[in-house]
Amino acid sequence: MSDFATRRQALLARIAAAARAAGRDPDAITLVAAAKTQPVPVLVAACAAGQRVFGENRVQEALARWPDLPERAGVELRLIGPLQTNKVREALAHFDVIETLDRPTLAEAILKERARAATLGVPVCQRFLVQVNSGAEPQKAGILPDDAPAFLARCRDAWDLPVEGLMAIPPADGDPRPHFDALRRLAAAWHLPVLSMGMSADFEPAIAAGATHIRLGTALFGARSG
Ligand SMILES: *Cc1c(COP(=O)(O)O)cnc(C)c1O
Repeated sequence: MSDFATRRQALLARIAAAARAAGRDPDAITLVAAAKTQPVPVLVAACAAGQRVFGENRVQEALARWPDLPERAGVELRLIGPLQTNKVREALAHFDVIETLDRPTLAEAILKERARAATLGVPVCQRFLVQVNSGAEPQKAGILPDDAPAFLARCRDAWDLPVEGLMAIPPADGDPRPHFDALRRLAAAWHLPVLSMGMSADFEPAIAAGATHIRLGTALFGARSG
């Protein structure tokens, strides 16, 4: 087995154990491979090892590699990094899920592009998560927790945007569990089934708190080079 396959198998076992410990079905948790900076041969090897769901941080980086790969056809591609409004057209054309809807100006740009694509009959991304800045950190993207209910209401009522869940990156220092719990409560209050939370260092408590998608980079690929 490749190093990737070995690491992936070990992680799937830990994910399943964490799920069972929480009384959850392991199949309810999707392992998202956070692929930023990984070279194309590594992505191909990951696909060969059975990995099917990938997260990309940058639209440009994702477009430089996935569209030309035969493996793309069987892959679900999720944008997990900030989306600039001037990249919305490309992002909606190439990603299956946008996890980082985080501000009204972005929602409006997405609406505009969806309308344009609809008149042209072009398929675009129909699946969105709202990113919440759960620690209210000034350097981090995401809607502030206090603003999240009003934003979710606008997504649903004013914009008719199909939001399937929430995404968050808790502060790097400190206990992530209160952030995971707050995200779960917010998702439950809005009947949102998807919770993207938990990374290499904290995916087990995230699963205990109800994560449906965990985004793993270093634990899956090894240390990043860039
Ligand atoms: C890089 C990244 C991850 C994965 O982080 P690791 O700690 O390497 O597992 C998850 N989510 C986002 C948004 C990232 O940018």
